[in-house]
Amino acid sequence: MLRKFISWIKALFRKKTLYGYKTVEDVPDRMKDKMVYLISNQGYVWQCVLLCPCGCGKKLYTNLMDDFDPCWKYVIEDKTISLKPSIDRLVGCKSHFFLKHGKIIWC
Ligand SMILES: [Zn+2]
Repeated sequence: MLRKFISWIKALFRKKTLYGYKTVEDVPDRMKDKMVYLISNQGYVWQCVLLCPCGCGKKLYTNLMDDFDPCWKYVIEDKTISLKPSIDRLVGCKSHFFLKHGKIIWC
């Protein structure tokens, strides 16, 4: 009984700490923390946007079109999202991190 309760709490915690993802047509005005927005145009996902994980509140836009540089790739595995390569902000908070399987890995 207690063991079940603990695993339930752990699952809840895991869910809260992992990044989710959502396909949308436009960047929402109010973005949620720990959510990667996949911007899609007629089924083609060309950009992804997330709030900077440092908490500075900046929206980070990553291009997914390989015709343009820099370009990122996203992978969805086991209902978690990963982005390649890392996101490196050269201005402002200068955050540098990977998003792997829904987790932020600071560089
Ligand atoms: Zn930041």
